[in-house]
Amino acid sequence: MVKPARLAVKAQLVIDGTGRRPIERGVVLVEGGRIAAVGRQAEISIPEGTEVLDCGAQTLLPGLVDAHSHASIIPGLGDQIGQLRQGPAPQLLRAVQNLRADLRSGVTTMRVVGEEHFIDIELRAAIAEGRLPGPRLLVATRPITARNGHGAALTFSDGEDEIRRHIRENVAMGADLIKLFMTGGTSSKGTAARWYAYSPQEVQVVVEEAHRNNKPVAVHAHGGPGVRICIDAGVDTIEHGKLCEFEDFAAMRERGTWLVTNNAVSGHPDGIEKGDGGVPSIMAKLKESRERSRQTFQAVLESGVRWALGTDSMHGLMWWEIAKVVEWGADPHDAILAGTRRAAEAIGMGSEAGSLEPGKLADVISVDGNPLADIACLQRVGVILQGGLRRDTLSDQ
Ligand SMILES: [Zn+2]
Repeated sequence: MVKPARLAVKAQLVIDGTGRRPIERGVVLVEGGRIAAVGRQAEISIPEGTEVLDCGAQTLLPGLVDAHSHASIIPGLGDQIGQLRQGPAPQLLRAVQNLRADLRSGVTTMRVVGEEHFIDIELRAAIAEGRLPGPRLLVATRPITARNGHGAALTFSDGEDEIRRHIRENVAMGADLIKLFMTGGTSSKGTAARWYAYSPQEVQVVVEEAHRNNKPVAVHAHGGPGVRICIDAGVDTIEHGKLCEFEDFAAMRERGTWLVTNNAVSGHPDGIEKGDGGVPSIMAKLKESRERSRQTFQAVLESGVRWALGTDSMHGLMWWEIAKVVEWGADPHDAILAGTRRAAEAIGMGSEAGSLEPGKLADVISVDGNPLADIACLQRVGVILQGGLRRDTLSDQ
């Protein structure tokens, strides 16, 4: 791998991801793959021999953090569970293409919340060693799923013994977190979105086993009583929450549970609609999810729950996730934080990624415009630095 250079990246505006006011005529100084300094060009002295990258009128931001995705899934191909039931070869071929698209869209860190065959362990290593372009990965490996639950592909965990055994196997293989499928989901035929798979005792077993191994628990949950069971059990993140009520979000705020939400897979034409448009039971659930999305997001904002964003396999569309919540009333700066610093915090990477601060990994992107005035400019990514390495110079082939 090329050794990270000493680099100064300049631009008209720097949004550093801490939440403080943007820096005009700013510069980010990078050394040894980490951020050495951030500030106004007039106030930061650039050591002699530093390579200078001038992004002109563009805006610098922290690399985007996708807090919820799957490497091997392409929703537009349909039958997502079927994709997870395949062998590792087709899954890896899709993953290589997907992770490249993610990185090219400015996502430098991603949490993968469920794969079979432990392919995410291999992908994480290949990316970390520079053999494969893609976001730095945190991986859940095989999700904990009931035989009759959403997300049930190849590995089923029924009863406390299987739950413990599978969590221990996942941890032994190198899982960074434990993923639990609690409620039904939109993209599977059989499960109602408010139905839930696991008893309160089983959820407590998941949390106890995961936390004893220092692994956070991320829970797929849309709405209904299953959400509260998970919050009460002390899970770390609720994923989706698309049918949650204000009281559910308020309970999460009280307990300190994160919400990781997403909209593209249900709302974008290339998502579930493209892949499973011909399946009436899926389209009925999609319709309810879409109709409620906006008001559910209002409840998120009003509740004060800590929230972050992911794409749920809509590779390359992190910008769309951020733009969509701005359309629904989020402050643009706050929405950017949901895809950078807060996303990093939600997945336990807050001390390493998500903001441009001295000591953190040098994950820096430039976008063509000012996203606080025009959020859609987040799709026009220029420079991409990941751990101080240029990634925007990858060929498109
Ligand atoms: Zn997912």
